[in-house]
Amino acid sequence: MDNYDVNRLRSDFPGLDRKIYNRQLVYLDNTATSQTPRQVVESIEHIYYNSKANVHRGVHTLSQEMTALQEAARERVRGWINAASTDEIIFTRGTTEAINLVASSYGSFFHDGDEIIVSVMEHHANIVPWQLLQSRVNVKLRVIPMDDRGVLDLDAYAKLFNSHTAMVAIAHVSNVLGTVNPVDEIIRIAHDNGVPVLVDGAQAVAHQRVDVTALDCDFYTFSSHKMYGPSGIGVLYGKRDLLEKMPPYQGGGEMIGNVSFEHTTFAELPYKFEAGTPDFVDIAALKSAIDYLEPIGMEAIAAHEHKLLEYTSQKMMEIPGMRIFGTAPGKDAIISFLIGDAHHYDTGMLLDKLGIAVRTGHHCAEPLMHRLGIEGTVRASFGLYNTIEECDIFIAALKRVAMMLG
Ligand code: PLP
Repeated sequence: MDNYDVNRLRSDFPGLDRKIYNRQLVYLDNTATSQTPRQVVESIEHIYYNSKANVHRGVHTLSQEMTALQEAARERVRGWINAASTDEIIFTRGTTEAINLVASSYGSFFHDGDEIIVSVMEHHANIVPWQLLQSRVNVKLRVIPMDDRGVLDLDAYAKLFNSHTAMVAIAHVSNVLGTVNPVDEIIRIAHDNGVPVLVDGAQAVAHQRVDVTALDCDFYTFSSHKMYGPSGIGVLYGKRDLLEKMPPYQGGGEMIGNVSFEHTTFAELPYKFEAGTPDFVDIAALKSAIDYLEPIGMEAIAAHEHKLLEYTSQKMMEIPGMRIFGTAPGKDAIISFLIGDAHHYDTGMLLDKLGIAVRTGHHCAEPLMHRLGIEGTVRASFGLYNTIEECDIFIAALKRVAMMLG
């Protein structure tokens, strides 16, 4: 993108100016969390100093103002992912809580012997909540395999369906391999079998335009902190007819109609799933993150990140012993790798000493590590503010580390 002014964008992120061991920080851990632009932080400060009051409870001006800010954020999120109604936008603590909510609440409809289809590349957040159901009901996980590039086997997937299949829960983008899964096709096959689909969008929303109506997914989940927004909040999108029949996830204030010691009625959507005081300041600031991303354009961000991915991957392959995990066509800008037999932790530590922030370990995807036959990887992941110059610094550092580790 010729008119993509990365230096102007970088000036919005004071966090990128940090020095690490006297070197300029090169932040390549965007899959774990992104840095936050000034505009989002300033909106948080503004709310704390001007409009902080609890939502939905007060007749006073501040409470009404804060409620309006929260609900404006809900409308902004609705439009951003093209949901039909704000009733379908539930604020949660993040992707993890959103998936737990669906597993616990929708999971109350499951029966002994029911099966949940997941893929081999799922984050633990999309495995363990389904396994927790096993204390209540005897459900089983069925797993979609992948090939050595990290592409899911859709023929094998289609064969997993039977009369016991109760749910498909699938990552939109793998946080380790960068694979962008064909969720539209996955959803179509599931719906042909009468099965609902939850899409874990944690790694998608900051890197591509997501349209839940076009996808026709039943649930979609994501976290604000990975999309340049504040930490501590996230979103569950759910189709209204499903959310309406699902029981509440947690009990408390905000989620009730009337309460007596004998009987309680529940609030309408979306509040039925938002027990207790929500993180209203951060929810309101999530709107600022979307306001920030929208004018840049998700297509422009994706094109920029793909340029960085291609440039870096190519240069990395010139380093002797380099092993990259995840080569699916059209993958996102996430590079998991090992240098020869060097331990991922040693590589990560040495890169840190050179000012480069990458992540090491199993990336909360242990079953995927078993499939790859490794313990962990080093992961470099790119965001809207990374530059070709940073890729060069990273490559030079990798060469140095490769020499040091023999
Ligand atoms: N799903 C995927 C694919 C992720 O990458 C992550 C976090 O890295 C999560 C779920 C969990 O997100 P959070 O910790 O924000 O709830």
